[in-house]
Amino acid sequence: MLIGIMALQGSFIEHANRLTELGIASFEIRQKKDLEREMDGIILPGGESTTIYKLLVDLDMNQLLKRKIEEGLFVFGTCAGLLLLAKEVHNHDEVFLKTMNIVSRKNAYGRQLGSFRTRGSFADHDDLELVFIRAPYIEEVGKDVEVLSIHEALIVAAKQDNMLATSFHPELSKDTRIHEYFINMIKGNI
Ligand code: GLN
Repeated sequence: MLIGIMALQGSFIEHANRLTELGIASFEIRQKKDLEREMDGIILPGGESTTIYKLLVDLDMNQLLKRKIEEGLFVFGTCAGLLLLAKEVHNHDEVFLKTMNIVSRKNAYGRQLGSFRTRGSFADHDDLELVFIRAPYIEEVGKDVEVLSIHEALIVAAKQDNMLATSFHPELSKDTRIHEYFINMIKGNI
């Protein structure tokens, strides 16, 4: 099992650390030839979605990434990564990858007070630490999307086929259960 981690900006090192704790090998994707490598799944980390997408375009990776996801590459987007996957970002006109049937809202908790740690559930797991940093949430889910986590009546994690997205940052928590969930998706256990 080998996971590629988009390493253009944001919290990519923390994702690699969580995978190492699970005994999973990963490599950083910094240019198109890295994205062309064989991999079992890819992680799109948190950071700033507009900046990450601009870099993807400048490095000629956006179309290849979109194609690979549409062809079934397993992808896990956290925070900015969720925005990159969303079919629509309600309060933002820019075009990102648009592969997942969710409508999201950028900086949905407000810019200044929008960062907090709390506890919540995810799929079958209870009492996880959820770290939100200027997070988006999911306003609407469409066809084939399964809601995995709701925090204060707002959808903060979802899955559709080969795609997993969280508003919060599992890589910034010591808990590896959500990364393990992604690995189990790849293994076909979920
Ligand atoms: N607010 C950021 C964005 O719009 C996401 C924040 C994050 O990834 N921590 O891309």
